[in-house]
Amino acid sequence: MDDCIFCKIVKGEIPCQKVAENKDFLAFLDISPFSEGHTMVIPKTHYRWTYDVPNFGEYWEFTREISNKINSKLNPFFISYLTMGNQVPHAHIHIIPRYFNDNLMNEFGQDLRLKLSTIQLEAIVAKINS
Ligand SMILES: [Zn+2]
Repeated sequence: MDDCIFCKIVKGEIPCQKVAENKDFLAFLDISPFSEGHTMVIPKTHYRWTYDVPNFGEYWEFTREISNKINSKLNPFFISYLTMGNQVPHAHIHIIPRYFNDNLMNEFGQDLRLKLSTIQLEAIVAKINS
């Protein structure tokens, strides 16, 4: 997929705030996050939907590893997952740490997203991986 933004991130053609990776999967911060630590987890190979990923269990196990790090370092109240997949046509799991009074308890909306600078995003990655 030459025009897929996530494939370009995997190839390093577009920068990302990398949280973690292994041979099959990559986790990076969403640049328009719902909350501090909002992370995208994608397969390095292009698949349209999360359920198209052949090693689906490993995909979620990797996602849980990231969730455990976020839980221990960012101390959210709990973590939500979203796999809507309608904005970028490359499988992705949203890890959304939830905090008390995060304004996300009722419904999600673009206007609720945080506006964070690259420096702020870098600080969050450093904190998760500290
Ligand atoms: Zn792709």
